[in-house]
Amino acid sequence: MTPQYDAVVVGAGFGGMGAAIELKRLGHHNLLILEREDDLGGTWHVNRYPGLAVDIPSSTYSYSFEPNPHWSRLFAPGEELKRYAEHVAHKYDLRRSMRFCVAVTGATWKDDHWEVVAGDETVTARYLVTATGFLSQPKTPDIAGIESFAGKVIHTAAWEPSDLTGKRVAIIGTGATAVQLIPELAKTASDLTVYQRTPIWVSPKPDYPIPLALRKLFARLPFVQRTVRRLGSSILELMMISGVVHYRQLRVANRLAERWCRAHLHRQVRDPELRRKLTPDYSFGCKRPTFSNDYFRTFTQPHVHLETSAIERIDASGVVTADGRTEIDVLVLATGFNLWDTNFPAFEVIGRDGRNLGAWWRQNRFQAYEGVTVPGFPNYLSLNSPYSYSGLSYFTTIECQMTHMRRLFTAMHSRGASVFEITQRANDEFLDRMRTKVAQNSVFSLGQCSTARSYYFNQHGEATLLRPTSTISAHRAAARFPLEHYDFTPRGSTQAVVEGLLDDAQPV
Ligand code: NAP
Repeated sequence: MTPQYDAVVVGAGFGGMGAAIELKRLGHHNLLILEREDDLGGTWHVNRYPGLAVDIPSSTYSYSFEPNPHWSRLFAPGEELKRYAEHVAHKYDLRRSMRFCVAVTGATWKDDHWEVVAGDETVTARYLVTATGFLSQPKTPDIAGIESFAGKVIHTAAWEPSDLTGKRVAIIGTGATAVQLIPELAKTASDLTVYQRTPIWVSPKPDYPIPLALRKLFARLPFVQRTVRRLGSSILELMMISGVVHYRQLRVANRLAERWCRAHLHRQVRDPELRRKLTPDYSFGCKRPTFSNDYFRTFTQPHVHLETSAIERIDASGVVTADGRTEIDVLVLATGFNLWDTNFPAFEVIGRDGRNLGAWWRQNRFQAYEGVTVPGFPNYLSLNSPYSYSGLSYFTTIECQMTHMRRLFTAMHSRGASVFEITQRANDEFLDRMRTKVAQNSVFSLGQCSTARSYYFNQHGEATLLRPTSTISAHRAAARFPLEHYDFTPRGSTQAVVEGLLDDAQPV
């Protein structure tokens, strides 16, 4: 049969849009992009809490092939990211392929195409790309009595504009989201209690407005902005390599990062007891660190309280800990996202011979060749996969995956094939290499991560989210992976491997 679409892309965030742009460049114009939300932009459409901003320099947190000279600050506010996403969709003519408010609930491989259940409809496509994000399934904490709270409960990923002036507010969580939100809440709430289970490493944020003259220069001479991008990327790369990936060789750099954050805390907080509570006891890099210039200082305000004893329960009007009870009007959940239970994968994916991706990952370790493809799942690109996240800016990951797609699809087209599948052997070798690197060099196995409660670790305690290599190595692998790592099947054939075709393969 001829499927309805060349490809179905699930997710209209930056990952899904990058994949769609690449597919169009490869000649696949008959695309369907499905999005459960009511508009495009992924994270930057869903998250609207006060203080939302990117915590990676904006010139780096954008597609390299689509620089935006108009960022207002070095770290742009959330609404500019959303506008940038709209601009990209318009320029690359993606909106016409998008369907919103459609939740995909399952996808099944049918010999030579995918059948995708989208809302109450089933669509067919030659290729399936899932770009459902890493941080897209909000986590509601399992705290006794939380459902009995009579006031307003707001998760940061479902923010509703509300006037908190004069309100007694509690916020649970001190991750990167809370670090941005807490200083904003403190501006209006009459009383703010922050419930912290695990402190976070926070360094100063070199955030400045970008003068109009410089923005004009970026627009006129794009190489100037490219230079700024390279500088930003190099600093992030250095942080990632020294703090996380090569911890064994560069432990001293990791210690320096910790000192830098401690000095920042020391400058903003005089009270040693408060400082102690805000200081992590795990190594820098075990958990996502963040930047802020006003987070620590906020706790020195008289109406802001840091509560570090565990929450016992929540009742109709307050939060109870071993220290006592706090009456509140509004409860903010900055409790993050569930990655490993509900997001890998985000819906049921059934591959060849009935292989269930979620069950297979859980029974055989989380794995994906180059963080993109999985054996037993032909014509499937899983962009939010184990070991796929490379570097600190998500755009590094996206562009590595676009490069991987380019090489893979070009090779497949040149062979007159229409079905690809990663070989078990190539996948196994990749997994072995990643596991060895994590074990031998990274902060995840050599640092003190046991108390970090980091989402980098899966439910089995393995750090399988981040790719434990430099981004340069990730880019190189995406551009040069051996083509014989894939089996290609020609159009109309049900044979899994085309013997001989690979032997005269030309490098692409
Ligand atoms: P998060 O980092 O997972 O933090 C969740 C917080 O909620 C943690 O402090 C966690 O404590 C706490 N928590 C969860 N369940 C709890 C419970 N039952 N009781 C008490 N505390 C509980 O989530 P996030 O802050 O939303 O950030 C997620 C990621 O989004 C970040 O790491 C970052 O990658 C991204 N982000 C990016 C930007 C950006 O500008 N690019 C901005 C914001 C966020 P424990 O640590 O003890 O579990």
